[in-house]
Amino acid sequence: AECGLDGNFSKGEVVPFGPIELSPSAGVLNYGQGLFEGLKAYRKTDGAILLFRPEENASRMRDGAERMCMPAPTVEQFVDAIKQTVLANKRWVPPTGKGSLYIRPLLMGSGAVLGLAPAPEYTFMIFVSPVGNYFKEGLAPINLIIEDNFHRAAPGGTGGVKTIGNYASVLKAQRIAKEKGYSDVLYLDAVNNKYLEEVSSCNIFVVKGNVISTPAIKGTILPGITRKSIVEVAQRKGFKVEERLVSVDDLLEADEVFCTGTAVVVSPVGCITYLGKRVEYGNQGVGVVSQQLYTSLTSLQMGHVEDCMGWTVELNQ
Ligand code: PMP
Repeated sequence: AECGLDGNFSKGEVVPFGPIELSPSAGVLNYGQGLFEGLKAYRKTDGAILLFRPEENASRMRDGAERMCMPAPTVEQFVDAIKQTVLANKRWVPPTGKGSLYIRPLLMGSGAVLGLAPAPEYTFMIFVSPVGNYFKEGLAPINLIIEDNFHRAAPGGTGGVKTIGNYASVLKAQRIAKEKGYSDVLYLDAVNNKYLEEVSSCNIFVVKGNVISTPAIKGTILPGITRKSIVEVAQRKGFKVEERLVSVDDLLEADEVFCTGTAVVVSPVGCITYLGKRVEYGNQGVGVVSQQLYTSLTSLQMGHVEDCMGWTVELNQ
């Protein structure tokens, strides 16, 4: 298929989880031509299963495919495949309050190439797994370190899409941070080494009074679906939300800091260490704003309140 076109994907099938066959010269193995997505299915108290904004994941995968010279499933194909996969695994969707079913769609260059070029064939697949909290802390505050000698993405690179290589660059920084007892790494921009970008797998927000700020989307950070949802939820609650350059200095002034992502949901940040200095937030407890936004978002996602935003998709079981 040609770069950026809708793929001629054959109708898929649901098969038991297990190894797949791949050519040693597959584009994904040699040149990193791969994208992934992540979303969750929650069970409502009445047993129904809800997806959260799956069409957003579909279009983010399509944007990523364009950047990576890959064809992509249409939004409809993507959402339909998600629904079929979740329904085939519905017994693995935990009861309300006991976690969720994490859904991992993958798109990769599975065709063989030798010289550097997009692969001639592509594979789209989805696997699922029940999950609990992402950080061992649960909703308790996490502890971040700013690593200014590691960067996640550079301008003009692939930081704005969910391609597998972005995560390769994170592994070592994350391992060092964990060895030192931190929950994760907060990255700065690669040009000025001064502006906040994001954490290894989530976006970052800074609260000061009634103003909530988050780094603007400018190609080097992932446009998180939780980020976008929290921006809207916060605005509806009367907060002023600013998408702008947020500098390390803003961290010193902040009342609260929190991260957002499908896996981490809304995770309060208890302290951030930068150049050996440690700044603490919320007296090591969960900040009021973080707690409020966590509750609003999860009640929507789990169907505990009426979905006035039209964000959830209930599956017909
Ligand atoms: N940034 C990165 C680097 C991520 O991997 C993720 C997880 N997808 C996010 C942010 C949060 O995005 P979302 O809210 O769509 O899960």
